[in-house]
Amino acid sequence: MKRVVRSQKPPWKLQRKTLEIHGGGSLCEHYLRPPVHRVVAYALGSFRRAARLFSGKTQGFIYSRINNETVDYLERRYASLEGAERALGTASGMAAIKLAIEFLAHRGHVVASNRLYGGVFHLLAQQLPKLGIETTFVANPQDLTQWVRAVRPGATRLLYVETPSNPLIDIFDIRPLADIAHTYEIPLVVDSTLATPALLRPLKHSADIVVASLSKYIGDGKAIGGIVAGKAACIDDMRLNWFRDSGCCMSPDTASIFLDDLESLTARMQEHCKNTERIAQFLQNHPKVLRLHYPTIGKDAQKRRTLMPYGFGGLMAFEVKGGIAAACRALESLYLFWHTANIGESRSLVIHPWTTTHGQMPDAEKQKAGITDGMLRLSIGREDPTDLEKDLAQALKNA
Ligand code: PLP
Repeated sequence: MKRVVRSQKPPWKLQRKTLEIHGGGSLCEHYLRPPVHRVVAYALGSFRRAARLFSGKTQGFIYSRINNETVDYLERRYASLEGAERALGTASGMAAIKLAIEFLAHRGHVVASNRLYGGVFHLLAQQLPKLGIETTFVANPQDLTQWVRAVRPGATRLLYVETPSNPLIDIFDIRPLADIAHTYEIPLVVDSTLATPALLRPLKHSADIVVASLSKYIGDGKAIGGIVAGKAACIDDMRLNWFRDSGCCMSPDTASIFLDDLESLTARMQEHCKNTERIAQFLQNHPKVLRLHYPTIGKDAQKRRTLMPYGFGGLMAFEVKGGIAAACRALESLYLFWHTANIGESRSLVIHPWTTTHGQMPDAEKQKAGITDGMLRLSIGREDPTDLEKDLAQALKNA
C-alpha cells in the first residue's frame, strides 16, 4: 500500500473556514489537536544556543512569559486568519492594546477615533498621559480631514481606530485611514474585536497592526485573552523587548480554549449576524424605541455593506423612549438577556453603557461620542430569535 506522507502544505490558498481548523499548522505535526504545554521553562540546549535564543538570532521556546508552544499554535492560527506574518497572544484585550500603543508610541502622540470601548478611551485619556503618551481624539471620525488636522508631523506615532465600534457599531473605512497614516510614515492600528477575522481582515485593507480582545466571540465567553498581529519584524521586536518585560502573557490553558473555539468561528458569527439583523429590524419598528444603532439601518446602510460584506456581528445599541428610567425598567424586565459586562457570547447579553462600560468617560465625552443615558447595548446571542423578540417586546412594554 502506498504510504501517504502529508509533510507539505497544500499547493493552493486555503479558504478562511479551512484556516480556522488548519491555519498556521503543519500537516506533518504529530498531534491532531495541539496539546496543552503546561510548562514555565524550556530546555535551552547548548550555551551558544541559549545566547542566540535570547538575542532573537535563533527562534525557539525559552520561557512561557516570552513564548509557549500552545500559545504559539494559537498565534500562528490567528495570524493565518488575519493574513498577518505574526501574532502575539496576551493576557487580555486591554493588555494587547496597551502593549501595542506603548511599544509604538513611546513618549509620543496618538490620534484616535473617539468611538471606542470605554476602557480604551480611559487608557488613552487618563493613564497613558502619565507615561508621556498624549492622545488627540477625533470628534467626528468619519470626517477624514479631522484626522489629518489632528496629526502632528514628527510627533504623532500612530493612528488608532475601532471598527465596528463599541457600543454604537460605527463602521469605518480602513483604507483611507491607512493612507493618511502612511503619508506620515506611521502605522494604523485597528481594534477588530467586534469583527473577528470571520467578518473583516483589516491588514488586507492596508492597516499595519490588528489588536483584539479574544474574550468576546473568539472564546465564546469562556476565557479572557487578547492578541496583536502584524509584520514579523514589529511583532518579534515587541515580543523580545516590551512584552518580555511587561509580563502580560497568555496561559497555555487559555490558548487551548481559544484554539478549540476558533474552529467554529465563521459558523457562529454567521448566526450572530443573522439573528442581530432580525432583532434590529424588529426594534427599528418598535414604538418605544427612539433610535437604533445597527449598520443595516439608516441611509448609509448600503455603503456600510460594501465595507463589511460578511455582516456586522452581534452588537447593537438602542435608545428607549423615556430616558434612563425607562432604560432601567426595560433592562430589569428582560428574562433571557443576561445583565453582564461582556459581549459576543452564545447567550444574549444586555448592559447600560452610560453607567458601566463607558462610565469612566466624562459625560460630555460620552455625549460627543453619541452615547446617551437612555441607551442600552445588546449583544445578540445564538438563541432562536423568536424568543429574543418576545423577550424584548415584553420588556419594552414595561418600559
Ligand atoms: N476592545 C473592545 C472593542 C472591547 O469591547 C473590549 C472589552 O469589552 C476590549 C477591547 C477589552 O478586552 P478585554 O476585556 O479582553 O481586556
